[in-house]
Amino acid sequence: SQRVVIIGAGIVGTNLADELVSRGWSDITVVEQGPLHMPGGSTSHAPGLVFQTSPSKTMTHLARYTVEKLLSIEKDGHKCFNQVGGLEVATTPARLEDLKRKHGYASSWGIDARLVSAEECFKMYPHLNNEMVLGGLHIPTDGLALAARATQLLIERTSEAGVRYLGHTPVTGIERDGRRITGVTTPSGTIPADIVVSCAGFWGVELGAMVGVDIPLLPLAHQYAKTTAVPALAGRDINSLPNGMNASLPILRHQDKRLYYREHGGQYGIGYYGHRPMPVVASSLGLTPKDVDEQNMPSRLEFTTEDFDPAWKESQTLLPALQDTEIADGFNGVFSFTPDGGPLLGQPSHLDGFYVAEAVWVTHSAGVARALAQILTTGRSEIDVSECELSRFEEVQLNRDYVTETGQQNFVEIYDIIHPLQQRASPRNLRVSPFYARQRELGAVFFETGGWERPWWYEENKDLVKSLPPSWKPVDRDAWSAQLHSPISAAEAWKTRNAAAMFDMTAFHRFEVSGPGAVGLLQRLTTSDITTKPGTVTYTLLLNDHGKIRGDIFVLRLEDDVFQIGANTATDLAYLTREARVQEQRIPGKWIQVRDITGSTCCIGLWGPRARDVIAGISTVDVSNKGLPYFSLKKAVLAGIPVTMIRKSYVGELGWEIQTSAENGQRLWDTIYQAGKQHGLIAGGRSAFNSMRLEKGYRTYGADMTTEHNPFEAGVSYAVDANKKDDFVGKAALQRLSSQAPLRRLRALTVDDGRSMILGKEPVFYNGKAAGYVTTAAFGYTIGKPIAYAWLPGGVSEGETVEIEYFGKRIKATVETESLYDPEMNRLSQ
Ligand code: FAD
Repeated sequence: SQRVVIIGAGIVGTNLADELVSRGWSDITVVEQGPLHMPGGSTSHAPGLVFQTSPSKTMTHLARYTVEKLLSIEKDGHKCFNQVGGLEVATTPARLEDLKRKHGYASSWGIDARLVSAEECFKMYPHLNNEMVLGGLHIPTDGLALAARATQLLIERTSEAGVRYLGHTPVTGIERDGRRITGVTTPSGTIPADIVVSCAGFWGVELGAMVGVDIPLLPLAHQYAKTTAVPALAGRDINSLPNGMNASLPILRHQDKRLYYREHGGQYGIGYYGHRPMPVVASSLGLTPKDVDEQNMPSRLEFTTEDFDPAWKESQTLLPALQDTEIADGFNGVFSFTPDGGPLLGQPSHLDGFYVAEAVWVTHSAGVARALAQILTTGRSEIDVSECELSRFEEVQLNRDYVTETGQQNFVEIYDIIHPLQQRASPRNLRVSPFYARQRELGAVFFETGGWERPWWYEENKDLVKSLPPSWKPVDRDAWSAQLHSPISAAEAWKTRNAAAMFDMTAFHRFEVSGPGAVGLLQRLTTSDITTKPGTVTYTLLLNDHGKIRGDIFVLRLEDDVFQIGANTATDLAYLTREARVQEQRIPGKWIQVRDITGSTCCIGLWGPRARDVIAGISTVDVSNKGLPYFSLKKAVLAGIPVTMIRKSYVGELGWEIQTSAENGQRLWDTIYQAGKQHGLIAGGRSAFNSMRLEKGYRTYGADMTTEHNPFEAGVSYAVDANKKDDFVGKAALQRLSSQAPLRRLRALTVDDGRSMILGKEPVFYNGKAAGYVTTAAFGYTIGKPIAYAWLPGGVSEGETVEIEYFGKRIKATVETESLYDPEMNRLSQ
């Protein structure tokens, strides 16, 4: 067991101590600046509403485990979870529709949920204004976490198991020897440690600064108030509830007005997200007082009544019983928001032994703690936590301005109805490719990812829609799937399949891995033999020790010791960087350099049956099938511009990714665009690209497959070299897995009626039962039907019918044989 110091005795820190000690780790110290009986962080005043269901499978499963765990913590009849159920009500038709979508998420992620009529809402919640409510969503397993009590019981039980707690002990520094963490500094001396985990809640920024790590969280104040006793609640025998459970009404959400409610004995508690965002700097709050109490703690700021006025009016309208009450007590409580609303879990790549588990709600606390404990003890969390990874942010997303603006947006939008493709209006134009000016001239509609502006379609191509052949004419869409969509994408796909199109591939991550240790590193981390000759391209997987997929990458061998990696995320960069460092320490002299070259380079995907004609006009380079076969690359010169031509295609057509350094980018774009005009070349956007990707069945890491899946289930075992002699991460586990029939599989579905759209994450029913969920979906313009990829039980066969639930309607779909387009790969190997 390693020496662990956990900073912070809130609901996250204490759960982590518990999860570690229950896995046999013994040398654990929890250091808390406040008094242990009430540390004074966000947990100390948390009203503890747990609504489990969200669009994210990960977050829903972290919440589900938290409920299970809190239900199991009990002492002397004192429970830590009051399973009163959760009710979300709709007062607008749009919300009523949204609740159907949410019901779908619950079915996808295995949470029991029911759409209920307005009458049922009143039965469950008699105080509701019956002129307002249109219907609701009821989740019986939701409820109230008694977070402060759970924290105390966890302190008690882990202390008995040997965990050491130090209250009134602020951590003032983190000590290290080079990159290795060695301990924490406190006023009473140093506490040595091999692993330090910051569970410091909204103080995370300050803790990160002690080791030079930018923590992208923003502390914000959020208003919570209690009413005076509600006459309508009087006389109920609340004391008949199990000890300390002072609520029997379901927890309630009124998201149309950004409000939520719980019962506190005879009083109501009201939480409000409709007020102006109120950012806080944790270090300005001063020291935690010696005696924290309900009224006096750093996370509790003065109530600003004027900000709450609209909430009070709306609450009295929704719950007329509140008209007989007043606000008895209110406060502006502080907790953390992040740029994408997710928690922060993991370690920075440049340090060994420093972890964070921050920006975590009570709702997900035990789930996050278990995930981290599993990572520390076994190297892998059973729930995929990629979307919580600390390293998921791009450099441009880590600065304070970005975090402050996006954190506030997430506060404001927390209860909004969000379309899966919704784009933020600001901050924008942070990262643009060298083609940006030209793309604007062509009327590009830009979507943003990781700070990059990426064309989704081009208005310039609008007129092409009229000339589409009948079988390509786009079908009408329902109002939801028609949002942030243009039929122009159909025309762009048509041109790619029948002439040629150029796609901006700049935003895809490109890393250079070089040096005498590079071959050894990539040979050890990937499932393929990458000792092939320079000039080859390999699609391969990164696995963990359990044989589960942690990424899929392209390895381009440029020279003996120089590779380029095409990767998915900033987390891939952090992983390669860390592994390179660890390997260098083990094998001195075999240094490795890992460099992110995404921004200093740019890339155009030129694809389509006429792609070779386009190139012939600007270069004499041999790009014949023999001169540059599929999955190979070569350096070339196009109209005087030095480029690397990489023979690969996401869309399943002849062509290349053509890469050059950033300063040559605009000239490269102009050259190809001009040369291509006579061959019908157009610029194409990501929307058409996505459709063609799905027609080919190329998986998107993070959506179609994650660390919960192995290559056999995910249908990517072709990327595992069964004859690879060298050992690689996950090899032993793969050998075991290869002999087992997959219990579930990622399958291609097409929609039978040829028109009903699906957008992703919908539940899939097999023999009438929810049996899986959609990962990604798009209209397949070439095959003339919507396509969905979905996880389904292993026994489901090709040709069978399943049903996809979309806004409460069941859509029939057929399980297909892959690929849906050009399965023999004839188009690619011409
Ligand atoms: P904390 O409880 O803040 O614990 C962090 C601890 O670290 C603190 O005790 C602090 O003293 C300690 N610490 C910090 N720096 C140092 C240092 N240098 N040295 C030593 N110790 C240090 N979530 C829900 O799920 N449901 C809800 O209904 C809900 N309602 C909320 C309502 C309000 C008004 C607010 C403000 C938050 C609400 N939340 C809710 C959010 C939830 O309360 C927090 O996300 C959660 O409690 C965070 O737990 P934590 O353990 O990470 O942080």
